[in-house]
Amino acid sequence: MFVELITTGSELLLGATLNSHQQWIGRRLAEIGLPVNRQLTVPDTGTAIADAVREALTRADLVITTGGLGPTSDDRTRDEIARLLNLSLTEDPEVLKQIELVFKRRNRPFPPNFETIARTQAQVPAGAIVLKNEHGSAPGLAIDVATENKTGRGRLLIVLPGPPRELHPMFLAYAIPLLKTRFPEVGTFSCLTFHTIGVGESRVEDAIRPHLVELESNGLEIGYCARVGEVDVRLTALGPKGEELVREASLRVRRLLGKFIYSESGQSLEEVIVHLLAELKQTLVTAESCTGGFVSHCLTNVPGASDVLLGGLVTYSNEFKRELLGVRDETLSAHGAVSEQTAREMAEGARTRYRADYAIAITGIAGPGGGSVEKPVGTVFIGVADANGVDVQRHQNAFDRETFKFITGRQSLEMLRRRLITAQREK
Ligand code: ATP
Repeated sequence: MFVELITTGSELLLGATLNSHQQWIGRRLAEIGLPVNRQLTVPDTGTAIADAVREALTRADLVITTGGLGPTSDDRTRDEIARLLNLSLTEDPEVLKQIELVFKRRNRPFPPNFETIARTQAQVPAGAIVLKNEHGSAPGLAIDVATENKTGRGRLLIVLPGPPRELHPMFLAYAIPLLKTRFPEVGTFSCLTFHTIGVGESRVEDAIRPHLVELESNGLEIGYCARVGEVDVRLTALGPKGEELVREASLRVRRLLGKFIYSESGQSLEEVIVHLLAELKQTLVTAESCTGGFVSHCLTNVPGASDVLLGGLVTYSNEFKRELLGVRDETLSAHGAVSEQTAREMAEGARTRYRADYAIAITGIAGPGGGSVEKPVGTVFIGVADANGVDVQRHQNAFDRETFKFITGRQSLEMLRRRLITAQREK
């Protein structure tokens, strides 16, 4: 199976719009066992679209295009494909009705050129299957291209609209079921992704690779994706033996990477934290200095955070650290605001004053100014408190301010996660 994705639109090449279809469609196809083999972005000018589709049809079993189905002069995909495949275009009355329906539902006056807009988009190439657009006007199309390939089947060309809010529901409701029928071998693709934190990409590889060699020779594929401070390990295998291969490999990875794995199901670190706190019926408060509320921002992105997060304080100044968290004057003058002692008192003060089960406290030097020999830019102290006491870790996160906040935030969440896992085990 060879799958090609062609995203069209000059705005993608100019960098004005992020090509999110590549990621979104890529993921959806991988989930059903049709990983994309080649992806190309072309401008919506000249014959670029037709040229790209012609070339893709010489090698791919499935070609998907996105964009250029609208009514404006730069929307040329439908016409170019019809011309390329020598298919006549005819107005489809059902599509016309659907376009009217979508416009009526918007409860806004019809544009003066509605008829032209609707008629242009209701043109369907002969023999194409229409993929209904329930959130916009231009329908998607699925065209069986007679050219035979090595599987003895024709090639399938799927043409989708550009706007994500139209493409996503159409793809899930109509394209996926069509692909599953058309390529019955799909679904024999097994995949599991581990999300790890606190260990580098090459250490992850060194730790697991030697233990997966024979599984690799039987068809297991291992992928590593390094993100800031984190590494994903993806295990995939095709075919009927794939499930067993991935299962066996995942047992080994779990054993080898153990505590570094924070999720297997695609859950983010903050989701894991919120769910663990909810399961343990525990509450949290945050006291942040240099991260400026980033940790509470991440946590409040998770639905259900209000059940576990009591609140977050941004205590930037010494005065706020004293007044709102009870950090002692002597501590601040003897050790400074960026110190293990201050982080400890911030965490303990936040936890007891605001009657939470857990507290995270962060104090550090984001830079570029403010560093010293003893405490260079990037120095940060993270405290996590619970009824058993406070742990403080010192890290050296010498990055730009935004990355500093991100990494420090993740480190604090990871410290809390480790404590929560221990509490979960002891329960
Ligand atoms: P329309 O009827 O809106 O013209 P269309 O099918 O012609 O739809 P385009 O004109 O190519 O689609 O794109 C419509 C919108 O969708 C634009 O805002 C465009 O930036 C966005 N879009 C198109 N392709 C992508 C992509 N690959 N990733 C993210 N957004 C995209």
